[in-house]
Amino acid sequence: MNFWIMMFILAGTQQTPQEIWLTKAGQILQKKVEEKTGEPLSEWYVVVKKIPGGHIGYFSRQINGTFKVTISPKLTSEVEILATLLHELVHVALKKSGHGSKFKKLASSLGLEGEDGNMGRTYANNSLKLELSKIIKTLGPYPE
Ligand SMILES: [Zn+2]
Repeated sequence: MNFWIMMFILAGTQQTPQEIWLTKAGQILQKKVEEKTGEPLSEWYVVVKKIPGGHIGYFSRQINGTFKVTISPKLTSEVEILATLLHELVHVALKKSGHGSKFKKLASSLGLEGEDGNMGRTYANNSLKLELSKIIKTLGPYPE
């Protein structure tokens, strides 16, 4: 199939209620990231899909330069979902998949903490949890 025809079909693909919820939440989180980096975030979109290897979130650069953020359907806690989304948006901001010093610096400044200093799996600290709870209140519960 022609690449552009395929992109056209993909662009027309309807988002699930969960993906719509995540997109709205992501737009709020994006502003937080941009405040820290001082730069507009690259274009991204989110899908909910099983990720191999037991990962809860994943990000990848698409051929057209946008970034695809994947959130695992096994996540059910809204705070954990948003903390995972924010983690992936840090990758989008850095355009890299690693968890080195640059990742740690930006993620920490946003309120993400690694387990035993391992930033590959991050959690919201208390002040971020509070912020995320406010977002969740605005958006309502994560759709089933
Ligand atoms: Zn990561």
